[in-house]
Amino acid sequence: MQRVYLDNNATTPVLPDVFEAMRPYFGDRFGNASSIHHHGQETRAAVEDARESVAELLGCTASEIIFTSGGTESDNLAVAGWVASGDHVITSSIEHHAVLHACKHLEKIGCEVTVLPVGGRGLIDPADVRRALRSNTKLISLMMANNETGVLQPVEEIGKIATEAKVLFHTDAVQAAAKVPINVRQIGCDALSISGHKIHAPQGVGTLYVKKGTRIQPLFHGGRHERSRRAGTENVPGIVGLGRAVQIANQALDRCDDKKMAIMRDRLEQGILAQVDEAGVNGEGAPRVPNTTNIHFDHIEGESLVIALDLRGLAVSTGAACSSGAIEPSHVLTAMGLRPDQARASIRFSLGKQTTDADIDFALALVPAVVARLRALSPRYTKQAVGT
Ligand code: PLP
Repeated sequence: MQRVYLDNNATTPVLPDVFEAMRPYFGDRFGNASSIHHHGQETRAAVEDARESVAELLGCTASEIIFTSGGTESDNLAVAGWVASGDHVITSSIEHHAVLHACKHLEKIGCEVTVLPVGGRGLIDPADVRRALRSNTKLISLMMANNETGVLQPVEEIGKIATEAKVLFHTDAVQAAAKVPINVRQIGCDALSISGHKIHAPQGVGTLYVKKGTRIQPLFHGGRHERSRRAGTENVPGIVGLGRAVQIANQALDRCDDKKMAIMRDRLEQGILAQVDEAGVNGEGAPRVPNTTNIHFDHIEGESLVIALDLRGLAVSTGAACSSGAIEPSHVLTAMGLRPDQARASIRFSLGKQTTDADIDFALALVPAVVARLRALSPRYTKQAVGT
C-alpha cells in the first residue's frame, strides 16, 4: 500500500545524509568527548563542529549553544533555569506542554505565573505582554511557532518589550527552526529551544541557546559538560546528526526552499477547502510556518478521520502527538475560541523535506472523499443537512 506521511510536526524522518554523518559515531568513532586521548579528541571535534553549525543557523556564537536531549529538556532548562520562589513568569495558553507543565511546576514552588490568552487567529498580543509585566517579573516564555497551527508569533516585538523591561525572554522555536530564518540577536531573546527530530535529525537531541553572560541554573548535576550548564556524557551521534541537519536546513533556507514548501502546503489547503464545505483553516490570516495547515472539518470526529485516512495510507494528526488518544479537545484550538466540537474535528497536516507534489495529489484525492464518507455516516451531519 502507498503510504504518505504528512505528520512532520510530530517527528521527521532522519535524512539519509544525516544518517551517513552519524554512522561512524556508532562504530570506530566511539570515544567519550571528555576523554583527552585520540578517541575523545575525535568526538570532541565532531561535537564542536555541530555546535558551530547550530550557532550559524541561529546567528549566535558556538559557546552560547547547549546540547540537550530535545525540545522538552531545553524548554524545562530555560523555564526553570532562572526563576526562584516569589518570581513572576509570563507565558501563554498555546504553549507546548513542555513549557506549560514546567510553569505549573514553578507555581508549586511558589512562583506566580500569568498565562496570556490569544486571539481568534492564534496570535499573542504584545500589548498583553506589556500589561502583564510586574515588578517581580523574571521571565517571559512565549513560543515562536505553534506546533498545532504553525502560527508565527510576534517574537521580535516581545523581545523589545522584554529588553526594555530588563526581563529574560525565552522562546520555544522547536517548530520554527529550519522552516523560517532565525536570528537570536534580531529576536532579542535570552534563550531559544530547538529539537533535532523536528528538523530531520534523530529523536532525543536538541539545543538551548543561552545568551552570553546569562547564568542559568542547570537541571542536571554531575560533570562539567556543556560548560557546567548540562551535566551528562554528550550524545555524540545525535549531536553530529543535528549538526548535519542544521547545515542542510541552512542551505535550504538560502535556496528559499521554504517558499516551495509553502506553495505545496497552500495547494493542499486550497484544494481541500475547494472540495469540502463547512471546513476552515485554524489560524487563517496569521503568519504561519510554510509546512503546516490545521483544518476543522465540522460534524466529524478528528480521531475517526485520522484513523480512516491511516487505513488508506495517509498519516496526519489531530494535534500534538503527545495528546493523541486523549478525549480532551486541543488546548491550543480552544484557546483560539473554537467550539470543543470544532476543535475535536480539526486535523493537522504537516509537510517535510521528503514531501512531494505526488504526496499532495494523494492527499487531495483522499481527504475530501473520506470526509464525505464519514459525514454520510454521521447523524449530526444528516440532521444539519436536512435542516438547511
Ligand atoms: N515544543 C514544541 C513547540 C513542540 O512541538 C515539541 C514537540 O512536539 C516540543 C517542544 C518538545 O520537543 P521534544 O519532542 O524534542 O521533547
